[in-house]
Amino acid sequence: MNPPLILLTGATGFIASHTWLALQAAGYRVLGIDNFSNSSPEVLTRLKTLGGMTPDFIRADVCDAAAIDTVFAREPIAAVVHFAAFKAVGESAAKPLAYYANNLSGLFTVCQAMERHHCQALVFSSSATVYGKPEQLPIREDAALSATNPYGATKLMSETVLRDLQAADPSWAIATLRYFNPVGAHESGLIGEDPRGTPNNVMPFISQVAIGKRARLSIFGNDYDTADGTGVRDYIHVSDLAEGHVAALRYLLAGKGSIVANLGTGQGSSVLELVRAFEQASGRSVPFEIAPRRPGDIDACYADPARAHELLGWRATRDLQTMCADSWRWQNLNPNGLAG
Ligand code: UDP
Repeated sequence: MNPPLILLTGATGFIASHTWLALQAAGYRVLGIDNFSNSSPEVLTRLKTLGGMTPDFIRADVCDAAAIDTVFAREPIAAVVHFAAFKAVGESAAKPLAYYANNLSGLFTVCQAMERHHCQALVFSSSATVYGKPEQLPIREDAALSATNPYGATKLMSETVLRDLQAADPSWAIATLRYFNPVGAHESGLIGEDPRGTPNNVMPFISQVAIGKRARLSIFGNDYDTADGTGVRDYIHVSDLAEGHVAALRYLLAGKGSIVANLGTGQGSSVLELVRAFEQASGRSVPFEIAPRRPGDIDACYADPARAHELLGWRATRDLQTMCADSWRWQNLNPNGLAG
């Protein structure tokens, strides 16, 4: 019998491409779809090298119902991992309509196609952003939820949709995974985070400073209520995150029900700690300046990862040094990203 076929949407993106390899390593077959709105087809070439087989891929937009239906009609799909979405917080405030339309319509289209084709196992990419400004640290899954920007609102709304869907029809099995701060890259340095233009997130920005593409990092605030005054986040290696998706899929396909789980390390690191760790891992200096706070940022955010460990048997294993070393290898081997 063929191994189960897993559909990845947004398959050539940062987290999805690593999850693709992790799923293959776990023995699943993978079908990827993407419209390349924020990724490069070159990822497929890299996946072929790393996975030892030509990736099964269809270029399609998750908002295109006819195209998604065609994907499902090809052969039975055991489960979907739905990554495809817009993800830039700042851009979401400037283009709320585009964010709500793309992120929600993509989810509706995928879930409706799943229903039509009797596929009811779904892993959904959510985010720690759904905790808004957390009242307690570390953050447990039962903490209060809120959105502080349109991107976060799309994740919160998507979670609501999925909760209602599961409540209405318990034959749905849904894993809602709340990612903390994904960083690092595949240990080969062949795939990694490939931002277009100026990076929004701190790790790709630091990498570009270290390689000399940018003069210095602006650290957004050093007067936060943290040990050194800079923001504290739960950085998690993308390969750990990828393995978390495999664990969630196994849980769903074993018929254990639905789950909402944090995927984080439980360990907070400040921006300054991250800069120091990166300098050590790369042997390069990372000049920085202290800049004003970025609107909407919070002091600290880190996970209580206990639930994922208890229910999924998963925990992150790669430390900050490994995250920085792998980010640096990726940056160094691909100084201009994959488009360049
Ligand atoms: N940050 C920074 N400079 C940058 C980008 C981010 O100092 O150029 C800080 C930001 O204020 C936060 C941390 O780095 O404390 C992580 O930010 P990022 O945008 O990577 O992720 P977020 O936690 O906001 O999703």
